Amino acid sequence: MSDSWNKRTKLVHGGTRRSQYNEVSEAIFLTQGFVYDTAEQAEQRFLKAGEDEFIYARYGNPTVAMFEDRIAALEGTEDAFATASGMAAVNGALMSGLKAGDHVVAAKALFGSCLYILENILVRFGVEVTLVDGTNLDEWRDAIREDTKLVFFESVSNPTLEVIDIKAVSDLAHAVGALVVVDNVFSTPVFSRAAELGADVIVYSATKHIDGQGRALGGVILGSKEFIRGTVEPYLKHTGAAMSPFSAWIMLKGLETIDLRVRAQADSALKIAEALQGHPKLDRVIYPGLKDHAQHDLTVAQMEKGGTVLSIEVKGGQEACFRFLNAIQIAVISNNLGDAKSIATHPATTTHQRLPAEQKVDLGITPGLVRFSVGLEDADDLIADLVQALDQA
Ligand SMILES: *Cc1c(COP(=O)(O)O)cnc(C)c1O
Repeated sequence: MSDSWNKRTKLVHGGTRRSQYNEVSEAIFLTQGFVYDTAEQAEQRFLKAGEDEFIYARYGNPTVAMFEDRIAALEGTEDAFATASGMAAVNGALMSGLKAGDHVVAAKALFGSCLYILENILVRFGVEVTLVDGTNLDEWRDAIREDTKLVFFESVSNPTLEVIDIKAVSDLAHAVGALVVVDNVFSTPVFSRAAELGADVIVYSATKHIDGQGRALGGVILGSKEFIRGTVEPYLKHTGAAMSPFSAWIMLKGLETIDLRVRAQADSALKIAEALQGHPKLDRVIYPGLKDHAQHDLTVAQMEKGGTVLSIEVKGGQEACFRFLNAIQIAVISNNLGDAKSIATHPATTTHQRLPAEQKVDLGITPGLVRFSVGLEDADDLIADLVQALDQA
């Protein structure tokens, strides 16, 4: 692979390793281990494995390595480590470098499981966590201290789609030497400029847009070679959240088409958001690509398009909202996002169900809120379907 290639070329050819058969499509090395020619070679490999020398699939595997190299080429980071799920990636990025007594600052509007790691797991091990309103730079400035070790946020928050200023928060964190970890799922690797804007570590749930067809769980941590091989790899290879070679193959194939898919989904999302704006049955249409979104200018600067997800607030509370959801004919009711199939989610009763009522109110997760992940269907069909469903709310 040439470094001068553009991203779309790297997405098709990056990281490719061919076996002695010179296959066109990437091989699935569905093997737990690797044979050594001699006992001496085994000893040598355990002492120090070279590039493309593998020991055990929990440590690394050729199909997984292809995926890691391809996504790192897209993101523009030195290295990547693939994991069994997005949450294994978030957990690995946070736990691998933190220790008791460390201080972490994080945005409070987060995916439910990310919040669980911060509020329920890290604190049990003596890590102090301060949560802030991620869109308010004054709150970040007040919370980040001389001894802050790490800051964490979702560049676009779930499900209320607040966009966080990666550069401004990174500058504040770097001033005290803190590591900046960004969960970048909603930005997608296609629209991401996180590394260039200052993020040290970028995390994806590959389950979302990277697969993009709802087949497999996966995750990835991206960063410098030093952080990935020196901090993340020792933690993950001994704790066991390795990505399956079969899932890595699915993700590799997903990367070949991700640019086309995500751009088409984002264009449809904007069209749908514009069509629904001002609808009499809706209190709000939230989409970072809309001009009236509070961080619209930041969205354009940071991620080019508004992403593939919009959120809408149906008037009349949960009852009206459920009538609307149950009347939708094309999108499915589920809780993934970034899929080829459009997906409608009711966060208050599903993904964010366990949060106390006051926390839901604080985060804007109201009984009428629906998260709508836009798929690859015809946008006009989706608009017509949503409008007929709103008529029945
Ligand atoms: C889905 C998601 C995760 C977790 O990913 P899994 O693959 O489900 O483990 C983490 N962060 C965000 C923002 C997500 O949307």
